[in-house]
Amino acid sequence: METIERRAPAALARLLRLFLLGGIGLMLASVQPIAARAEAGGFEEVAPGVFVRRGADEEATPANHGAIGNAGFVVGADRVAVIDTGGSLTDGQAILRAVRAVTDRPVEIVVNTHFHPDHVFGNAAFAGLPGIRIVGHPNLARGLSARADYYEERARAAMGGDAESARVVLPTEAASDGTAIDLGGRILEIALFPSAHTDSDLTVLDRATGTLFAGDLLFVDRVPSIDGSIRGWLDAIGKLEAMPARRIVPGHGPTSIPAEDAFAAEKRYLEAIVTGVREAIADGQSIDQAVQSVAQDERANWLLFDDYNPRNVTAAFTELEWE
Ligand SMILES: [Zn+2]
Repeated sequence: METIERRAPAALARLLRLFLLGGIGLMLASVQPIAARAEAGGFEEVAPGVFVRRGADEEATPANHGAIGNAGFVVGADRVAVIDTGGSLTDGQAILRAVRAVTDRPVEIVVNTHFHPDHVFGNAAFAGLPGIRIVGHPNLARGLSARADYYEERARAAMGGDAESARVVLPTEAASDGTAIDLGGRILEIALFPSAHTDSDLTVLDRATGTLFAGDLLFVDRVPSIDGSIRGWLDAIGKLEAMPARRIVPGHGPTSIPAEDAFAAEKRYLEAIVTGVREAIADGQSIDQAVQSVAQDERANWLLFDDYNPRNVTAAFTELEWE
């Protein structure tokens, strides 16, 4: 620039500066709308081609449309996979709009990380898409079917929507451990888990970026909820920590966190429950007494602690009293 400015007349130099600034402006303009459009749906690009939106740290309400769990999508050269579809038809439609804002490649894969409503009720928004595959754990269809009436009723009560906005849509296929999903130049790899957060937990690893969608096997900020096996969950954490991930997308909490120590807080909480419940059982306490005392030191560390800790202690007590 200096050399040119010295040689060129001042007016020409000004023109040149304007041209260069204009060029940079155009470059930014061509980049920004993508980010802005993705952000419009609440999605953040956490790694190249990997988009995640953070669910609200709340229970489902008419105002949040059940968008209380994290949801993501991964864009390959040929197709897009959506990982968890949100907590209602409305939420699923918002996720689909966010995909459409980023790419016109078809959504041909949905993966449900487990059977909880805030991760599957958006399936209805994707069910009619051409060639769609809805993939889950081998236990997903059975678990969802068994809970369908209860989940639908509870969702309608919580969100006040019509029946259609909270309709269970079952998976079309069961994954195996190690199932590879080819998005075109990009492979997603599924890992299955024995009973842990639920008995239908799976994870999805984007090999290209080392991004692991952990579903609700990882809670960050929001207190974990046990609907499977606390011992199974602690075993699962050992397996998860050994996986080749660089960043983890939790089922609840930030859009992603570095893989290192990602599970430390959750593990500490679950171990506090196991230790506390074993002591309570050894002391001859009832479940009600255990609920009052176990893991109370953890209260300040978690959102919604008082909503879920009593249930977690109850679930753990029921599991551990037969050891
Ligand atoms: Zn869950």
